[in-house]
Amino acid sequence: MEQICRTCMTNSVALVDIFTDQREPSLAAMLCECVASIKINLNDELPQKMCLSCICDIQTAFAFKRRLKYQRRTHMYCWALSIIYKRSKKHAK
Ligand SMILES: [Zn+2]
Repeated sequence: MEQICRTCMTNSVALVDIFTDQREPSLAAMLCECVASIKINLNDELPQKMCLSCICDIQTAFAFKRRLKYQRRTHMYCWALSIIYKRSKKHAK
């Protein structure tokens, strides 16, 4: 039976329940952390499942956010970005 993905609203037969999936952290937790403006409740009226494409996207976004959040050497990060930017501008010429 086809159901609708909570985040992209497309029909799919391969959906995963965001509350009962065994991932750690859960899909619901990743959604809350990556999209702070969206409140997720177990018994809300929205679909309770996500499609595999959206799961892949939220995992990538979550990993990226965690990587930035726990960056211990922020000043080194900014310095590296400035070097990359300068190099890209040099190559663009
Ligand atoms: Zn989706």
